[in-house]
Amino acid sequence: MYCFQCEQTAKGSGCTVAGVCGKDAQTSDLQDLLVHAAKGISMYAHRAAKLGKRDPSIDVFVIQALFTTVTNVDFDPQRIGETLRKAAAVRDKAKALYENACAETNAAPETLAGPATWEPADDLDGLRAQGEEVSILSRRTALGEDLSGLQELIVSGIKGAAAYLDHAQILGQDDPAVYATLHEAMDYLTKDQPQLDELVAWALKIGELNLRAMEMLDAANTGAYGHPQPTAVRVTPIKGKAILVSGHDLKDLEEILKQTEGKGINVYTHGEMLPAHGYPGLNKYAHLVGNYGGAWQNQQKEFAAFPGSILMTTNCIQKPREAYTDRLFTSGLVAWPGVTHIDSKLDFSPLIEAALAAPGFTEDEAEKTITVGFARNAVLGVADKIIEAVKSGAIKHFFLVGGCDGAKPGRNYFTDFAEQVPDDCVIMTLACGKYRFNKLDFGDIGGIPRLLDIGQCNDAYSAVQIAVALAEAFECGVNDLPLSMIISWYEQKAVAILLTLLHLGIKDIRLGPTLPAFVTPTVLQVLVDNFNIMPTTTAKEDLAAILGVGV
Ligand code: SF4
Ligand code: SF4
Repeated sequence: MYCFQCEQTAKGSGCTVAGVCGKDAQTSDLQDLLVHAAKGISMYAHRAAKLGKRDPSIDVFVIQALFTTVTNVDFDPQRIGETLRKAAAVRDKAKALYENACAETNAAPETLAGPATWEPADDLDGLRAQGEEVSILSRRTALGEDLSGLQELIVSGIKGAAAYLDHAQILGQDDPAVYATLHEAMDYLTKDQPQLDELVAWALKIGELNLRAMEMLDAANTGAYGHPQPTAVRVTPIKGKAILVSGHDLKDLEEILKQTEGKGINVYTHGEMLPAHGYPGLNKYAHLVGNYGGAWQNQQKEFAAFPGSILMTTNCIQKPREAYTDRLFTSGLVAWPGVTHIDSKLDFSPLIEAALAAPGFTEDEAEKTITVGFARNAVLGVADKIIEAVKSGAIKHFFLVGGCDGAKPGRNYFTDFAEQVPDDCVIMTLACGKYRFNKLDFGDIGGIPRLLDIGQCNDAYSAVQIAVALAEAFECGVNDLPLSMIISWYEQKAVAILLTLLHLGIKDIRLGPTLPAFVTPTVLQVLVDNFNIMPTTTAKEDLAAILGVGV
């Protein structure tokens, strides 16, 4: 195996024996093969799209295959093996779609090679051997570190965008143009002799694609559940049976809330599910009682202590401890061997039965709340007040401090940073990195909270809309606003968001706690030259540099 797609990669360079995340070598090799197989499908789907033909089931298969390979999603080699066999069948379907389109338009079909001709081996060992042949190492040997690293930057961005597209399609959102671009990018990645400037251009194009994916997801979530509103969320448990829902998939949460109505079970959110409380369509359920725990990397301790059943939707699952494996369930693309998976029919009866069989909380803990729901609609609803506060000097600067949380040391930077932000500045935050500071009391500036929780990582779309609206109000560009972005990354969705910000021309982003291993010094120089992207240093130094004063 060789995997360096996330921030916690071994020694900052690559996991080679087993993943720090818990992914074994077999699963890693199978995931590499799944990406290869997805490229083969896209080679045909891209050519069919150019001839005006599309099959949405092919598109959805490709994004789900890619999402399967995102960090902390699927650790089950058997399941990935089954997906690989389906991939060969879907590739044949895509090939037929293309060839029929050629026949209809009297075009001569191209004879494709590479991933388009892959045939699955008979067993998992054979599939694994095929995966080893197409790993990053083989491309690194052929192309060198810079070009293969840039390819991985693009693959990571595509994987992140695929995750958002999957959430959006679950709630009925579709856009053939997005899928056409995604297939085109995957096809480009099969070229034998990519050029550095072409790869950089593709990385930015994936940022554009991801912006559209996040826009679609925003439309899906707000269309289904209304615009988030500022909402106080209880972060201490109350007496009673309990279900904990983690991950990002709002549809799963809604189904659980419907299926537990009147059953005497309290439902809690965990991790990235916290922003769900802001949506009127979810908050209307009285038994959605609060949020429990912190970010994903604390789950082993928190799930062991939670006296009910637990659902992991989407990422980020960690190796379950025995103490809770029998009350842990997965849904969507998440899988762990031995953990019960709820299939796409979303019948949560096993989860509900496990909650009823567990003791639940035996007493109320003293009430404590935090406020969420400051997505674009809520913030722009008080835009006049915010603009006035900036003009009067009451608000001096905005900081977007957001992104993934993680387990490695060095992430205290984000807590330190938030704590040291001067009192006349506002912090906007999103994604699970916020758990580093979202229970601190930041107070307000003339009624405007100093900490605005915009939502999940995909709600970076909301952050962009807020920034664009402020820039319009002040008749300047986003880069001219008193706004600085401090982004923490861990996995591929954060890479997709970073590419989106670069596509939008946003400069001076500080990225931490370390830079991705696939960003070589040459590639970093390209990013520095064009976007002045920089690694985080210390909270004190970075704040002083941004504000131009000692803090
Ligand atoms: S996802 Fe991250 S931790 Fe897991 S194997 Fe890959 S680089 Fe290592
Ligand atoms: S923000 Fe990133 S690390 Fe955090 S839960 Fe979401 S996907 Fe995982």
